[in-house]
Amino acid sequence: MNSPLKSVDPAQPGVVDISDTSPEDYIPGGVHSSIRRFDPILNLSRAEGSRVYDMEGKEYLDYHLAFGPILLGHRDEGVTAAVNEALGEIDLVGSGATRFEVELSRLLVEHVPSAERVLLTNSGSEATYHAIRVSRAMTGRDYVLKFRGSYHGWHDSVALSVQPIANQSQRDLISAGVLGTTADRTMTAIFNDFESVEDIFREHGSTIAAVIVEPIQHGIGCITPQASFLEDLRRITSDYGALLIFDEVITGFRHAIGGFQSLVGVMPDLTTLGKAMGNGFPISAVAGGKEVMERFDTHPSGDVFFAGTFNGHPVSSAAAIATIRRLENSATYDKLYHLGDRMRAGLRTIGERLPFPTSVAGYGSIYILYFSETPPTRSTDLVSHDGPRFMRYRRAMIERGIFEPVMDLKRCHISLAHTEDDVDHTLNAAEDALKYVATHHLE
Ligand code: PMP
Repeated sequence: MNSPLKSVDPAQPGVVDISDTSPEDYIPGGVHSSIRRFDPILNLSRAEGSRVYDMEGKEYLDYHLAFGPILLGHRDEGVTAAVNEALGEIDLVGSGATRFEVELSRLLVEHVPSAERVLLTNSGSEATYHAIRVSRAMTGRDYVLKFRGSYHGWHDSVALSVQPIANQSQRDLISAGVLGTTADRTMTAIFNDFESVEDIFREHGSTIAAVIVEPIQHGIGCITPQASFLEDLRRITSDYGALLIFDEVITGFRHAIGGFQSLVGVMPDLTTLGKAMGNGFPISAVAGGKEVMERFDTHPSGDVFFAGTFNGHPVSSAAAIATIRRLENSATYDKLYHLGDRMRAGLRTIGERLPFPTSVAGYGSIYILYFSETPPTRSTDLVSHDGPRFMRYRRAMIERGIFEPVMDLKRCHISLAHTEDDVDHTLNAAEDALKYVATHHLE
């Protein structure tokens, strides 16, 4: 698990030789985000297009894509040029708004249908935190409703019910140290089970400030919303005076430049965006109607505190502008969707020949191979998914040079830098890995 760090070229001036240093010597567990600790850990030293390279120079086709932010491909030329241009002009100044922040905000308002105003911050967690806080301020209510299996960040209001199957024997928090009185203000329903939402609203409707929902449940792979589920959420939140928050941190930009809301025509009160927006640079946004957004105290009449030293950083903003400009060409989505379709169709065909059940799900450039008879339509269906086999498969893929994260239920992402050949090569590796898994039960 522990690979010592080696510099790419110790002889290169300015490159420190850390070849006798292990990440664990300085970093607890050797990673700066707990979900980066898979087995095996890949310590990567270079990334380009659809590929990443480890310390020994071994190449991997990358479908992890850093949990989703890389949409155009690693180190996309246009994004790199925009970042360099910004750096030639300004860095962080902490006053007013730079031209980069203004242009990016305008682009978001132009493209995201429910956005009249936006505020930029740095991570998805910050965005969902602020969306929930302003919902509480708008409604004067405390409670939040989320869906089992969705992850909305690390803060206390959403630090629960992330696993798809409830563990009855213990509290369902993702962390020690979560303030119970805050987590207790969050209730959990089942995605695509509108009755479970209605039941909660019937009993607690007058106390609910907001429903926060990933419009496609990507936290556990890919569960798309059934028929009128999102419309029903829109209606019930409006009826009860609660806000509807679409957490489009994954779906935003990856599936459409205007987010999933632009594809289904359901308008949330608030939208959170992040990940693919900056093609790997740290940036996120909260967006919504003028009235709710002007409750934030960046506006003189607002009373909901909104601040951050690095908010709207010119470098990240420039990266996001360059990313969004590329996405304005609809051919980018044609290609992403085409590659996704090709991968899913290929995996389905391979699955038909296997001695154990697999099923394929996905949307656009996201795909996942579940180890169950049919893909889940609700988180509760995942009881029939064979997690240990899934993990064995993912390890076998890494051994074959395909980087799909060794984390149960974690979706895979395709970038614009991937090609049909990459997909076909991946399908060959998948077939081989699955045959291996079929004959190696207990590893
Ligand atoms: N919302 C969703 C839907 C996410 O998938 C994530 C991250 N996986 C977050 C919020 C939190 O984003 P971040 O890791 O940037 O804080």
